Amino acid sequence: MLDADFFRRWMTAAAASVDREAEHLTALDSPIGDADHGSNLRRGFLAVAAALEKEAPDTPGAVLVLAGRQLISTVGGASGPLYGTLLRRTGKALGDAAEVSEERFAEALDAGVDAVMRLGGAAPGDKTMIDALVPAVAALGEGFGAAAAAAERGAEATVPLQARKGRASYLGERSIGHRDPGATSAALLVAALTEAAG
Ligand code: ADP
Ligand code: MG
Ligand code: MG
Repeated sequence: MLDADFFRRWMTAAAASVDREAEHLTALDSPIGDADHGSNLRRGFLAVAAALEKEAPDTPGAVLVLAGRQLISTVGGASGPLYGTLLRRTGKALGDAAEVSEERFAEALDAGVDAVMRLGGAAPGDKTMIDALVPAVAALGEGFGAAAAAAERGAEATVPLQARKGRASYLGERSIGHRDPGATSAALLVAALTEAAG
C-alpha cells in the first residue's frame, strides 16, 4: 500500500530530479520552444517541495492536490497548468483514503492523464508530455520500473515526430528531429516513483 509519505517522497524526488536536469530540459526547449522548460519546472517543483514541508498533508490525495495547485500557481508556461492538472486530478481520484493500492493509484493516474489530454487537446503522437505519460500509465500494472522504462521510450520516440500541440507546433516540420522537453520531464516524473519506492 502507498501512504502519504510515499507520495511526499515522490514529489521530493521529482523536485530533486528536475533541479538536477533543469539545464538539460531548458536546452531541449531551446530549438523547438522558448528555452524555459527547466527553469519553469524547477521553480514549480521547488514550490511543491516547500509547500509539502510546510503543510504536511496526511493523505495521498491531499499531497497530490496540494502539489498540483502549487504547479498551477507558480509555473507560467504551458507545462504548469498541464502538470498541475495531472497531479490535482490524480489526487482527487484518490479521495481521502489514508493508503491506496498500486492498482488504485494506476487508475487515478489514468484519470489524471485523461484530464491533461482534455485540457491541452493533445493525443499520443502529437510530440508532447502525453507521449511519455500514456505508455507509463499503460505499463504501471507491471510496476514502477516498467512504467519508468515505458515513459523513457515514449520520450525518446518523440524525436522523429512533428509537433502538433504547444509552441513547438509553430515550427511545423522543423520540429522534427528534436526530443520533446515535456515528454522528457514527464519521464523524470515517472522515474521518481522508483526512487520513492526505494
Ligand atoms: P511553454 O511552451 O509555455 O514555454 P514549457 O516550456 O514549460 O511551456 O513546456 C513545454 C512542454 O509542454 C512541451 O514540450 C510539451 O511537452 C508540453 N505541452 C505544450 N503544450 C501541450 C499540450 N497542449 N498538451 C500537452 N502537453 C503540452
Ligand atoms: Mg518553454
Ligand atoms: Mg514559456
